[in-house]
Amino acid sequence: MTELVPARTPVRLAVLGQPGVADATFPIRRIYCVGRNFADHAREMGAEVAASKAERGTPVFFLKPADAVVTDGIVPYPRGTHDLHHEVELTVALGTDAPPGVLDRTSAASLVLGYGIGLDLTRRDLQAAAKAKGLPWDTGKSFDACAVASPLLSKADVPAIDTLGLSLRVNGQLRQQGRFSDLVWDVPDILIELSHLYALKAGDLIYMGTPAGVAALQPGDRYSATLNGTGLQLAGIVVDGGATG
Ligand code: MN
Repeated sequence: MTELVPARTPVRLAVLGQPGVADATFPIRRIYCVGRNFADHAREMGAEVAASKAERGTPVFFLKPADAVVTDGIVPYPRGTHDLHHEVELTVALGTDAPPGVLDRTSAASLVLGYGIGLDLTRRDLQAAAKAKGLPWDTGKSFDACAVASPLLSKADVPAIDTLGLSLRVNGQLRQQGRFSDLVWDVPDILIELSHLYALKAGDLIYMGTPAGVAALQPGDRYSATLNGTGLQLAGIVVDGGATG
């Protein structure tokens, strides 16, 4: 066999708190993202918000490339946009392949290896133009370095994710905060919904959607996000993209 192009190595996230395992890592297979999973953010984007869980319909899903993950916090300002937005989100890492068929809540929860913090970076001008024409969001959501991710905390170290929340500061100013009790679809809900559409596998990473307060980032901006109650942080800087953005 002669490989005519390089076989790329997957991006890996560090996994904290694996007993007896030194330098545990999580190689990323696929990235699923949820849109409009906090009512306050759906509202700020001009989307309709269901009055009750019974009327919530189905989640909005989109994907990001697995090789677009930023692990060192340094975000090159991307080409093709004048309106790069931050969306701070809970990330959920799957440690087990899903069984065939549609998941139930117990089997869904059992797939989770751990949790982290992510930024779903968005070229909002391109997304808005696509939305206005009824076109797919791909160029707004999927681009080089569009998914910032923290190391993962083992599930055992995050006993009650539903009671936690997260926040994002940019240049020291609070921009976004949310509680996971306010998610329209919680983690098992999302895994169940995804299992109607995809074969979930170990290595999959899910971005759970952002609370209100999304706004623009500029080169030089320093950001810092916290998964409240865990001590986990995600911090970094936006740099001029130059030739690499
Ligand atoms: Mn998002």
